[in-house]
Amino acid sequence: MPEKRRLFEQAIITKKPVSDPDGYDILCTASNGLEVSQNVAFFPLENPPDAGPMTVANVLALGPKQQVPLVRVKILPGGAVSRMVQWDGGPRELKQFHVCDRSGQTKLTLWEDKILMVKESRSYQITSLTTRRFGEKNTLTSTWSSTIKEIEDVGEPDTLEAWDDELDVPKICGRVIKCDVVARYYCVICHGSQTNVHEKSEGHRCEKCDMLQRRETFRVLYGGKISIFHDEQELSLRLTNVAVSTFVSEQLGSAPTDVDAIAWKLTCAGTVELEVDSSQTVTSKWLMMIHVPTKLRGQTQC
Ligand SMILES: [Zn+2]
Repeated sequence: MPEKRRLFEQAIITKKPVSDPDGYDILCTASNGLEVSQNVAFFPLENPPDAGPMTVANVLALGPKQQVPLVRVKILPGGAVSRMVQWDGGPRELKQFHVCDRSGQTKLTLWEDKILMVKESRSYQITSLTTRRFGEKNTLTSTWSSTIKEIEDVGEPDTLEAWDDELDVPKICGRVIKCDVVARYYCVICHGSQTNVHEKSEGHRCEKCDMLQRRETFRVLYGGKISIFHDEQELSLRLTNVAVSTFVSEQLGSAPTDVDAIAWKLTCAGTVELEVDSSQTVTSKWLMMIHVPTKLRGQTQC
């Protein structure tokens, strides 16, 4: 660009920004120099070849914190139970699954309501993941924008590695005394969390992006507390989203978002059997996590 040379020379000499007619400032530091070279050929950048799905072997070869646009994996049976972590300003539920395709095997962490979107021994196409490095191996984790779609079986490698996740989740039986269910709403457009959604109203204006939307379009995550009478004591347990959502789909059929109706149904559940994870940070001996109310039986004794 011979026409720019004078401007660059001026910037080199004065060590001050020089405005060029196109509206850019040319700024050179003391270490910059100016040389004249032969014409340099420029080649337009070609678009990268169509990415397509990555295999598990591709994923294992990546570095940590890399984006994985698309994988097709099978959820293997077994694996750890879900757990709660503090993340991004609140308690979040996550669950690690063992996944594979014909090329290899790794782990997949799904967050919150995405935990409920997969079933063991089935295969899924999952988008917008990132890699995490645990020890020597890359694992996958879902993001806010991940989508999950069931597909035909993708197969397994010739040999599967064994794993030793904690599978024994203690079950506690007891009669429900009281219950409280809360719903947290998130905008599907901007992911902003909402603090003031009226459950009876049809519409809600997102408190972050200001878009007015039907209330049902907001993503809802449940939480809450349940007290049961167990072993002649009252136990207070925390309800996770997976626990409440599983209860809703198994016991109420559809997915009502009226938390009072869900809480009342749980309160009237009689004697329940609950999977409780005691490995969490507990603020008292009896404050634990309920994962899934596996079976809810009228008034029968466990
Ligand atoms: Zn929004």
